[in-house]
Amino acid sequence: MCRAFLYLASMEKPMIPGLDLPVRNIYCIGRNYAQHAKEMGSPVPKIPLVFLKPLGTICYNGDSISLPPQSNDIHFEAEIVVAISKTGKNISHGSTSEHIGGIGIGIDFTARDIQKIAKRQGHPWSIAKGFDGFAPISSFVTPDKVQDIDNLDIKLFQNGFVKQHGNSSEMIFPISNLINFLSQIYTLHPGDLIFTGTPEGVGPVNPGDKLEVLLDNGIQSLSVDIK
Ligand code: ZN
Repeated sequence: MCRAFLYLASMEKPMIPGLDLPVRNIYCIGRNYAQHAKEMGSPVPKIPLVFLKPLGTICYNGDSISLPPQSNDIHFEAEIVVAISKTGKNISHGSTSEHIGGIGIGIDFTARDIQKIAKRQGHPWSIAKGFDGFAPISSFVTPDKVQDIDNLDIKLFQNGFVKQHGNSSEMIFPISNLINFLSQIYTLHPGDLIFTGTPEGVGPVNPGDKLEVLLDNGIQSLSVDIK
């Protein structure tokens, strides 16, 4: 294999910090907290609302995110993120924990103005959710470091002020349900990430902002700047 190819191959495969795995797919869940669905003026879904983000959205703790010129209203959405470490299809509720390799946090950046137009027109959210750098992720801890996956706190600070504070116990579809549901559609593979939805309090970012997200008071943290 020539060196240029190796270089390109590594460029195409962002890694999951803390786990020795390249990111494979980025599955995301919309409206998984009732209070967030309410603040968006959206109904609470009866089945999980699923969308995907492209690999180019992945970036890391300490990165600066450039706001794309196509939007004037880019929002943060802090989310608990699950990394899959074992291949599975039709994963039963009872065995979802065997497929979780790590827990982290991320921000599902969203161009709200573009998303609003897409919603109105019945179009997909791929552009609104998919700009480069729109999915910063923290390092991941292995599940044994987490006491209860269904009682995980998540907090987002914007310039030092708390803007979002949620807990996985408030999810409409808990993490095991999400893995069970997704795996009925997609074979899940090591390196797949699941952004599990955002609690209430989403809001716009401006150049110069500093965002910090904490998982359970600091077992993981993620900090990014807005350029
Ligand atoms: Zn989201």
